Amino acid sequence: TPAPSTNFLRGIIESDLVSGTYAERSNGQGEALPQVVTRFPPEPNGYLHIGHAKSICLNFGLAADYAGRCHMRFDDTNPEKEEQEYVDTILDSVKWLGFSWEHDGKSHLYYASNYFDVMYACAQALIRKGLAYVDEQNAEQMRENRGTLTEPGKNSPWRDRPAEESLRLFDEMRDGKHPDGSLILRAKIDMASPNMNLRDPAIYRIRHATHHNTGDKWRVYPMYTFAHPIEDALENISHSICTLEFEDQRPFYDWLLEQLAEEGFFKKPLPHQYEFARLNLTYIITSKRKLRQLVDEKIVSGWDDPRMPTIVGLRRRGYTPEAIRLMCDRTGASKNNSWIDFSVLEGALREDLDPKAPRAVAVLRPLKLIIDNFPEGVSIDCSAPVYPPAHPEHDTAHRHFPITRELWIEREDFMEVPTKGYFRLFPGNKVRLRYGYVVECTGCDKDEHGNVIAVHCNYFEDSKSGTEGSSNYKVKGNLHWVSADHALATEVRLYDRLFSDPHPDAGGKDFLAALNPNSKEVITAYLEPTLKNAKPGEIYQFERHGYFVADRVDSTEGQPIFNRAVTLKDSWGK
Ligand code: ATP
Ligand code: MG
Ligand code: MG
Repeated sequence: TPAPSTNFLRGIIESDLVSGTYAERSNGQGEALPQVVTRFPPEPNGYLHIGHAKSICLNFGLAADYAGRCHMRFDDTNPEKEEQEYVDTILDSVKWLGFSWEHDGKSHLYYASNYFDVMYACAQALIRKGLAYVDEQNAEQMRENRGTLTEPGKNSPWRDRPAEESLRLFDEMRDGKHPDGSLILRAKIDMASPNMNLRDPAIYRIRHATHHNTGDKWRVYPMYTFAHPIEDALENISHSICTLEFEDQRPFYDWLLEQLAEEGFFKKPLPHQYEFARLNLTYIITSKRKLRQLVDEKIVSGWDDPRMPTIVGLRRRGYTPEAIRLMCDRTGASKNNSWIDFSVLEGALREDLDPKAPRAVAVLRPLKLIIDNFPEGVSIDCSAPVYPPAHPEHDTAHRHFPITRELWIEREDFMEVPTKGYFRLFPGNKVRLRYGYVVECTGCDKDEHGNVIAVHCNYFEDSKSGTEGSSNYKVKGNLHWVSADHALATEVRLYDRLFSDPHPDAGGKDFLAALNPNSKEVITAYLEPTLKNAKPGEIYQFERHGYFVADRVDSTEGQPIFNRAVTLKDSWGK
């Protein structure tokens, strides 16, 4: 395995290991803690997408590389949008990507909502310390008094109310005595701070809503920026890795944990937040709201439509965990936002599949080839004497290659009037039918519009591949084919990118206007008979065409349906 790529996060971890920043920690029950404890903290409000895969690979990957552990944590502090369905699919996707939250036989799966009691106590401690107050300004007044980047904000008239009053009101908020939005708990920091996030940020709000885990126990819920540092500290996270948009939150993160450590809630060393640039891939969108719109408006068949950038969609499309991890590793972690071309992910998939995907013959744009001098009703095995290996390096499948009088070939493998340099089938030309015989083209049949509907040829009985006579035939063309009597006729979906614009939703653009009208073409293809046994999820290289996966949802026993994962070469836009 290649050495892991270096990135600035590795640098930070390695210097912490050298200086022993997190060397002497125990979990309170006397057990030593690893020096590197990271977490992947999704909100269970949607399906994971390729951007999340980046965060998963970084957090789980760094922990594994430095003998640490990574916590799987649901950041479920928002009661309204969260559902069990999302919890289940998120766990599934992380496992499928190849990661585990087990460490030394112990599961590290956590729910932020299980910490609501501690969070409430933390908020009370801040109030007692004179560092938080219940504000009665409405949202609009708060906005007005917040100031701007160039002007300081104005202190709330409730800012200096006695701690006892705030404590009483906070309890009343919790007990459901006040409607949503009427009161809010704010940290008391500095209304003139150049960092807007330190201008008395809201830390607890009223929400009369049922939570998927805590039910109706709470009428107040912590804000993300308050909850997240506490979750990290409670779990003894060492390196809290997040995306760049949280950079301005770091001073609050540090301020809060410092204050709470003074109150005895947490022991030092405290967790530290580090920011990296989110993964931006061209030709996709990752906003959950917009992805949901694609599903709701039935532009795609669901969250797992093979064109979706979700993990479930990529999986159904034929992407492998190895390919996704390879792309994430290659693109490293950076401090600067940039775009990664989608072809990087496609390239990683080809690279992963080439050494392992069995080869198979598929005719996607079929044209009938009739061998006029071949006896009717006869079938000759072409898997001997030259056996067509399912893979150039290793062969697993047993392939079955009967030749009969009528075959399917690719439409593009015949030209009635050949262009210069064309050496496939045209009247008078000889080609080899791969693993079979040499044939000579004699002509074609046309319909009333002049379209070619069948091609005729004669075969040379002594030309079979691997037999002595075959060496007497020197031909340039070597065509793939399947027997019309034996082929598996089945649905194949030729998927392409969902959007034709590299930045479908950049700058507030209407992403629906950027949809690629040709992102899905459904055809009936003729496949080599062996493929009748393809199991859902198996991936093949259809020679000359690309990598195709047997669809996990729509395939049935003996009748797999295939999705094109990626073409053999990068042909986008060419
Ligand atoms: P979305 O913007 O799609 O709604 P989110 O960031 O709100 O995503 P979370 O469930 O909070 O969704 O994300 C879990 C983790 O995944 C967070 O730590 C977040 O920073 C990270 N993450 C989300 N999108 C990306 C991305 N494009 N690149 C890297 N990390 C990401
Ligand atoms: Mg989020
Ligand atoms: Mg987001």
